[in-house]
Amino acid sequence: MRYAASIKLFLIPALSIVLLAEPALIEAKKPFGKPGNAFKSLYTPDYLELKSRIVARFKDHSPGRFGEFVRGTRKKLDTGKKVLAFTFDACGGRHSGYNAKLIAYLRREKIPATLFVTGIWIDRNPEVFKDLAKDPLFEIENHGLLHRVCSITGQSKFGVMATSGIGDVIDEMELNARKIEVLSGRRPMFFRSAAAYTDEASALVAHRLGMEVVSYDIVSGDYIPFASAKYIKNSIVTQARHGAIIIMHFNHPEWHELEALEKAVPALRAKGFSFGRLEDFSFYTKGIG
Ligand SMILES: [Zn+2]
Repeated sequence: MRYAASIKLFLIPALSIVLLAEPALIEAKKPFGKPGNAFKSLYTPDYLELKSRIVARFKDHSPGRFGEFVRGTRKKLDTGKKVLAFTFDACGGRHSGYNAKLIAYLRREKIPATLFVTGIWIDRNPEVFKDLAKDPLFEIENHGLLHRVCSITGQSKFGVMATSGIGDVIDEMELNARKIEVLSGRRPMFFRSAAAYTDEASALVAHRLGMEVVSYDIVSGDYIPFASAKYIKNSIVTQARHGAIIIMHFNHPEWHELEALEKAVPALRAKGFSFGRLEDFSFYTKGIG
């Protein structure tokens, strides 16, 4: 089942609330001071110069296609080996939990993983973030400052908050990349847009900022209401193929990723699969700014 088709079941009622109150945006403002000045402390002169240069470059640019797999988006590793990449998102807003048992399992089983985190989630979980960032088992990547769908025309999906224009796209990508770098000492290489939807122009913007947009090859379905561990496990095991990037979450301790992986991992290992982080199996030339 595709992310696009199945996510609607879950998100439409939940996100109509988000649209009314925009809790993610309100919550995200807290760490930066007064409402209305959400980004002020992050707008350094060098950042504003970079932003205006990229805005000018894309002034008359067409948005291109909008979707999960548009040009410039990665969904697989660059390998012919039987390696899979588990990627886990931490979104934000009301969804800023932490599945500690899942992370403990990955550590116990020595399963490398890539963690996409938003700025909102980091602010809610500062100590956990530091702990994850210093663990070489995990690669920390960028899920956006405020968990916005990135589109230069304001196009959204499933009612998730979207960027209103190219300036917002740059804020979403670059400000969270800087935040992660300041806190962890490592700048992210990859960006995953909220809901994994983006337009082609935003993928190009990410490239200019030195990041590659990542989508997925296998959707685990962990976010589907009442998705059982068995359903998630079967989604992963039956679709497993060389270099596949699997999308899951680690911000919902009440979901069933752990129980699913306890079954899926032995089955995948029996089939000869191993697990790797994105940065270890991706060839990517960074943008030039
Ligand atoms: Zn997300």
